[in-house]
Amino acid sequence: MNERAEHSVVYGGERIRYVIRRRPERKSRRVAIHVEPDGRVLVDAPAGASAQDIRAAVSARVRWIYGHVAAVRQRLAQAMPREYVSGESWLYLGRRYRLKVLVDAGQLPAVRLSGQYLTATVPARGGANVRKALEAWYRARAKAVLAGRLDVVSASLRWVRAPLPVRFQAMKVQWGSCSPAGRLTLNPHLVKAPRECIDYVLLHELCHLKEHNHSRGFYRLLDMYMPQWQQRKSRLDSLAESLLNF
Ligand SMILES: [Zn+2]
Repeated sequence: MNERAEHSVVYGGERIRYVIRRRPERKSRRVAIHVEPDGRVLVDAPAGASAQDIRAAVSARVRWIYGHVAAVRQRLAQAMPREYVSGESWLYLGRRYRLKVLVDAGQLPAVRLSGQYLTATVPARGGANVRKALEAWYRARAKAVLAGRLDVVSASLRWVRAPLPVRFQAMKVQWGSCSPAGRLTLNPHLVKAPRECIDYVLLHELCHLKEHNHSRGFYRLLDMYMPQWQQRKSRLDSLAESLLNF
């Protein structure tokens, strides 16, 4: 089994990824599962444990894992609670913008990017109004930008027949998923990430149309179409808490 290989388990409609670390020094056949402070899931397995043993151990504790990952995300998000007021920093395509809130009773809610500002115009004061306007804007941008990147990334993949059905759904622990039937689900918060990280997530999901599991063949595809995917992935992982802080 590949050390760097990523595996995953689905729970609550979300895919939770985990990394297996082989521990030859572990005498017992017991598999130990850790959720790191940053939300990464590490599975320590003795050398003798089969892939099946490991999967069974993870499945048996999937509810526990999900609870811990969700709690980490929530804790990280609460570390810097959003107030939806002027001066706050917001990300879009990997760049930081300063939020400017304008109240104009005669206007419909609107959000606009210009220079280093993300300007939200709302008809009435209050964080909830600003939040709603921002949510609608990010969702609309996600639909446009991610669909555009999907065309670019899938253009070179012979096994993808466009157009793919895509669904947008805000999720706590994952950026995207791909059903065996070829239906993509993408997290709209992904549009806050740098374009190269977006492309990595899209390629990852599109490779699942050919290789459903994180098999050796799956990583061969990733390596072939995006040799630097691991750097992009770690960049995305390190940004996760800011991107999911809404
Ligand atoms: Zn995957």
